[in-house]
Amino acid sequence: MDDEPERAKRWEGGYERTWEVLKEDESGSLRATVEEILFQSKRKRVLESHGQVRLGMMRHLYVVIDCSRSMEDHDLRPNRLKATLKLMQFFVEEYFDQNPISQVGIITTKNKRAEKMTELAGNPKKHVAALKKAVDSLCIGEPSLYNSLNLAMQTLKHMPGHTSREVLIIFSSLTTCDPSNIYDLIKTLKTLKVRVSVIGLSAEVRVCTVLTRETGGTYHVILDESHFRELLMFHVKPPPASTSSECSLIRMGFPQHIIASASDQDAKPSFSMTQLDGSSDSGAGLSLGGYFCPQCHGKYTELPVECKICGLTLVSAPHLARSFHHLFPLDEFTESPLDQHHGDRFCQACQGQLKDKSVFSCPSCSVVFCTECDLFIHDTLHCCPGCIHHHATS
Ligand SMILES: [Zn+2]
Ligand SMILES: [Zn+2]
Ligand SMILES: [Zn+2]
Repeated sequence: MDDEPERAKRWEGGYERTWEVLKEDESGSLRATVEEILFQSKRKRVLESHGQVRLGMMRHLYVVIDCSRSMEDHDLRPNRLKATLKLMQFFVEEYFDQNPISQVGIITTKNKRAEKMTELAGNPKKHVAALKKAVDSLCIGEPSLYNSLNLAMQTLKHMPGHTSREVLIIFSSLTTCDPSNIYDLIKTLKTLKVRVSVIGLSAEVRVCTVLTRETGGTYHVILDESHFRELLMFHVKPPPASTSSECSLIRMGFPQHIIASASDQDAKPSFSMTQLDGSSDSGAGLSLGGYFCPQCHGKYTELPVECKICGLTLVSAPHLARSFHHLFPLDEFTESPLDQHHGDRFCQACQGQLKDKSVFSCPSCSVVFCTECDLFIHDTLHCCPGCIHHHATS
């Protein structure tokens, strides 16, 4: 029973109104019900990810971080700002892992102003470095929702219609200082199909309720740090593509990285397209190597990117392969009681003995898995090991 306190922490952060759900078993122990709640909340994650029919594959997301006075509050350790910046580093890594051909930008707001911490870009390293650097920044004044949204919108409105345009605001203050009517701005965001979600660190704020409802986003207020992490991780998964967004075929180019050899007489160092329009903060300078657009030969230093000259989406093949599982999500496995499976005593993935009261079987190959492997297969692997084995042997 030594692990009870640790478990308690995990489910306290959940959504359940725990004390109404808890019941003692015959021996007076809460253990069985705790196991049940944990089990159900794990299952919920798998189920939730499956209602989505069509997922936006290329995402453009601005995360707005409130850096106003209220971020110095110590209800998160060591304070709200430091806790947020740390979780954000983790978020950025996870985001690019799950959305390899997508982009993120970070905006901060304090003292009635909003500014870009990083531009919309596909490289996690720059964002993580900027987040680490921001740890010592001062939290001052009031945030401005209007200025932050306006700043994000100016860039997002130029993103192609087949991609997602998203803003996620981490909002700590209970007030916002807006230079103009924010409700007009919300209408514009709605027209431009910019989806805005908010994670509140204090309490519910009416303007955020309207903002998220009108633009089709989500709004949650955190209960504690583990809940904060959970809410943030929810945004790692792509939102369902809106039915009105352009879809069908997207032309893509797969440029190879080419370095002009020094012995080549014609080799001249050149600028990349991103450096020319000043939208990149990476050390501007001439370089020999780069990715060249197969259509117009524009040069880029990193992928993914949309070619500034001909508009072709340039990605690397491994990037694209990793995005595929969002387009063809794995079917949910069928849950059934263990006592119905007399022939199956071991999980076909981890080879462990089946001991949970339920087992999960793949609807196409009927192979049986344990709870942990079911989660791993749907969250990480995105393909059924039973089906692969079946294909390989038939
Ligand atoms: Zn091009
Ligand atoms: Zn297993
Ligand atoms: Zn299968």
